[in-house]
Amino acid sequence: MRPDALNPYFAAVTDLSGIGPKLARPFGRLLGRPEGARVLDLLLHLPSSTLDRRARPTIAQLAAGDLATLRVHVDRHVPTPPGSRAPYRVYAHDETGDLALIFFAADRRRMEHMLPVGEDRWVSGTVQMYDGLPQIVHPDRVLDDAGIARLPPVEPVYPLVEGLGQGHVRRAIAGALQKTGPLPDWGSLPGAPEFHAALAGIHQPQDTADATPAGTGWRRLAYDELLAGQLALALVRARTVRKTGRPVTGTGVLTAKLLQALPFALTSSQETALEAIRADLGSGNRMLRLLQGDVGSGKTVVALLAAATVIEAGHQAAIMAPTEILARQHLKTIAPLAEAAGIRVAVLTGREKGKARGALLDALMQGEIDLVIGTHALFQEGVGFRDLALAIVDEQHRFGVHQRLALAAKGEAVDVLVMTATPIPRTLVLTYFGDMDSSELREKPKGRKPIDTRMVAMDRLDEVIARLGHALQEGRRVYWICPLVEESETSDLAAAQERFEDLRQHFGAAVGLVHGKMKGAEKDAAMAAFARGETRILVATTVVEVGVDVPEASIIVIEHAERFGLAQLHQLRGRVGRGDVASTCLLVYRRPLGEVARARLEALRESDDGFFLAEKDLELRGEGDLLGTRQSGLPGFRVARLEVHGDLLERARAEARAVVAADPDLLGERGRALRLLLHIFERDVAVKLLEAG
Ligand code: ADP
Ligand code: MG
Repeated sequence: MRPDALNPYFAAVTDLSGIGPKLARPFGRLLGRPEGARVLDLLLHLPSSTLDRRARPTIAQLAAGDLATLRVHVDRHVPTPPGSRAPYRVYAHDETGDLALIFFAADRRRMEHMLPVGEDRWVSGTVQMYDGLPQIVHPDRVLDDAGIARLPPVEPVYPLVEGLGQGHVRRAIAGALQKTGPLPDWGSLPGAPEFHAALAGIHQPQDTADATPAGTGWRRLAYDELLAGQLALALVRARTVRKTGRPVTGTGVLTAKLLQALPFALTSSQETALEAIRADLGSGNRMLRLLQGDVGSGKTVVALLAAATVIEAGHQAAIMAPTEILARQHLKTIAPLAEAAGIRVAVLTGREKGKARGALLDALMQGEIDLVIGTHALFQEGVGFRDLALAIVDEQHRFGVHQRLALAAKGEAVDVLVMTATPIPRTLVLTYFGDMDSSELREKPKGRKPIDTRMVAMDRLDEVIARLGHALQEGRRVYWICPLVEESETSDLAAAQERFEDLRQHFGAAVGLVHGKMKGAEKDAAMAAFARGETRILVATTVVEVGVDVPEASIIVIEHAERFGLAQLHQLRGRVGRGDVASTCLLVYRRPLGEVARARLEALRESDDGFFLAEKDLELRGEGDLLGTRQSGLPGFRVARLEVHGDLLERARAEARAVVAADPDLLGERGRALRLLLHIFERDVAVKLLEAG
């Protein structure tokens, strides 16, 4: 239930005077609420820039491009001659020079009324120079002395959509500010203006700085938004943690066997991560930990050893991968080790059907399987465990939070370990995962050779193909990643098909193809043929992007590299460099290469540190895109900009924790005010959680 205090904020924009049914649609589009925008949406529609009308230059001081507001004496009108398309001109002067005012399709009567000859007027607009004479084409304001006194010194400029002008938006926002008022104080940054005052300060700025993200009003709103997010996370967390308390301690028996079966020693980051995980498992709190590490940093082994701990204690574990290929890949890595240790492993994906599936589900339910590896199929109805204690989710951001919760709900007090190969910058971990703990595998396993990364323009594709010919003769294996086509999966496929046929012309049967539209068995067959070396060039759409492990592959060609994100390119590149030969990554781009795309490719050429690249990606793209907000369902921000307000996150997080510790049900005076905040920034899922008890 939304508190009544918020009613004016949640009223429909069409309740404001001046916004009739005709404007409802464009405002709906502008504010991203086609079903009906609200006053609050309007108030949170912040300016993209400002017009500063405080500068009062003389004519002699004018320079082209200035936004100037000046007082001039009107000398004469030169109306458009009949039948001509020449503009209507008005000449004016001040004590320093002459100025021309230019109007197209002007009405003489109106012009004479607006700029009477012999009188003084204020004009405001953007200056141009024409034959050495300053002129203003269609001044945005022409005012007398009384009018200028009422003109706001600084005017905000808003993002628009078709069908709306600045005037519409400014008037609507002014109306919205009048309709709404101060709210009970939920506590914000010290010295910050009150919530409603902060909005007013941004929309009716006294200074250009007031309407920028760095201004005090905007900072306050950004903090509010971050606080709302952190508070929601903290509330969810407090509620999940509170219900749990099943410490799990392993005997170390299976772990010892696994370590013995491993052909290598763990890196020290793997050791550290495992210690943290075991401590979480052993504690009374529910584990919620993020395991971040570049492709090839060895997360799977960590996952297996974590699973071993709960299996030693007599429980079950599950690993959930985003794709069929990945689930099977994990199985391939894990099965021989598990066998050596005596851990019973099974795989469950959409492909297990009929009797076999039934038997598998029974075995899971009976506890005859210790570790199950699978896809989305794992959290479907009908899948039950005897005693699931640990859920490991690979490649987190492809799954929504609710899917993670659905898997965790399959057991009692299930500990959750989330693995991601796309390192997430610290600020984003805080934003999206809040209180989630994090372990990072920053160290690469020993013996990895650096990958030689190069940029090649598309028009040199012939050379690339010629070089591949040599490489094949040396027995090397090549991934050829086909362009990501935005429009549809079908065109993705067509591009891959075309490249496949083209390469076949050169290399015959050595070329294989794998794409997302293939059936599971076909995909496996294509991958297997490549892994065995029957095909030596594998043309692939991005389905093969993650996880796939063919150590013999030492060249990757990425076509249309400029269309991929930095994180994705880094992932793709991680397909090679896993064996003992030096590997090469060719980033094939089409000219002209945009500035940001170039910066991205260059960053990739210079670094193979996923954590560094993730920070770089954030810098280049802004946070919205980084995690693929749309696919992941992660909420974006309306007001906060992490590149400007990132410093406020830590503070918001600490504050949220303190609030939840002191008033876990938000029942105190401040707590009740904070509920308003949760509604304002649409974190009311957390409010529902409170109300559910
Ligand atoms: P990730 O899942 O992080 O991409 P994997 O777990 O698939 O990485 O590991 C990549 C490869 O590195 C695998 O072949 C794995 O056996 C190997 N590996 C993992 N840990 C180590 C280690 N400490 N030393 C050497 N090789 C390792
Ligand atoms: Mg992996």
